[in-house]
Amino acid sequence: MNVSKDKVVSIEYKLTDDDGTLIDSSEGRGALSYIHGHGNLVSGLEKELDGKEDGAGFTAQVTPEEGYGNYDDSLLFEVPKERFKEFGEIEVGMQFQAETDQGHQIMEIKNVGDESVVVDANHPLAGQNLNFEGTIVGVRDATGDELAHGHVHEEGDEH
Ligand code: ZN
Repeated sequence: MNVSKDKVVSIEYKLTDDDGTLIDSSEGRGALSYIHGHGNLVSGLEKELDGKEDGAGFTAQVTPEEGYGNYDDSLLFEVPKERFKEFGEIEVGMQFQAETDQGHQIMEIKNVGDESVVVDANHPLAGQNLNFEGTIVGVRDATGDELAHGHVHEEGDEH
């Protein structure tokens, strides 16, 4: 079976930056399963996998445009320091999850001043080239439930 829209595709992969530093990998976690053609992976990777056969290897060099976007200075926000009271001590580089109009989003603290804190809502991998390498280890039809929910159901998982 080949990778196409509405298939559940499982991949083993590793992701490195342009210096060869490992960013992410399926090793030790098991294959990543997703529904193809629904924007669940970055577009550059879905494009590379499209049409490939179960068992095929792949490599994909993904630019920020087809990855997590370019770094956007307008996504830096200054927030009163008071709002971070509940977090206790805060420092540059700390990440936290915020509720936004687009759902949950990871934000990183860029700067801590006396009165205010600068938070960065860019994706942690914004502006980076993504180098994927891996193998397709499974392709099957998605069930009606999976398509309705927009995510893969593992065996025995009915949510
Ligand atoms: Zn579900």
